[in-house]
Amino acid sequence: MIRLHRPTCPRPDRLTAGDYKHADNKAALIDASSGKCMYCEAYVRDTSFGDVEHIQPKGRYPELEFEWNNLGFVCQRCNNAKGTKYEDRMPYINPYSEDPNDSVVASGAYIFQRGGSERGELTIIDIELNRTELLERRQELLNRIQKAIDKCFRTNEPLRSSLLSQLKEEAEAKKEFSFVVGARLALETF
Ligand SMILES: [Zn+2]
Repeated sequence: MIRLHRPTCPRPDRLTAGDYKHADNKAALIDASSGKCMYCEAYVRDTSFGDVEHIQPKGRYPELEFEWNNLGFVCQRCNNAKGTKYEDRMPYINPYSEDPNDSVVASGAYIFQRGGSERGELTIIDIELNRTELLERRQELLNRIQKAIDKCFRTNEPLRSSLLSQLKEEAEAKKEFSFVVGARLALETF
């Protein structure tokens, strides 16, 4: 999970009209997370269209159903895992309004709570941020990153610099699972 910046709502009139998933508004949310789920950072549109998520569930907070600040873009797996769970006294990490880095940390393919963060722990458990499918996909990516790291160290200039900049691109915010890749690359001194 990485910090996201909430875009301006392109069509507030549609929200007022009672439509929380108008195509233009959904597109703005998709763009804000580079097409990734706000929680698990998987590219959503590889396998589905993705959901407009109510951070505070609309069933229990009907007054927030059409509130722009309560909407996000998620994959169906995270949406299903979260369901209608949400507690005001311990809200899930909200990457649109805070830096997830304060509450969670990546180690290998796993996400852990940072510094004993209870909100981080609850987010990981309830949204299933270490579910098998995610662990497998992150591990595959990390294996590929490892090969690229090895190649950087075993290659001489000027090829080394080119390989290194390619490698660093893998940790950019637009890339899938960039949180995990960034944590791996931070362990190296290039
Ligand atoms: Zn997800």
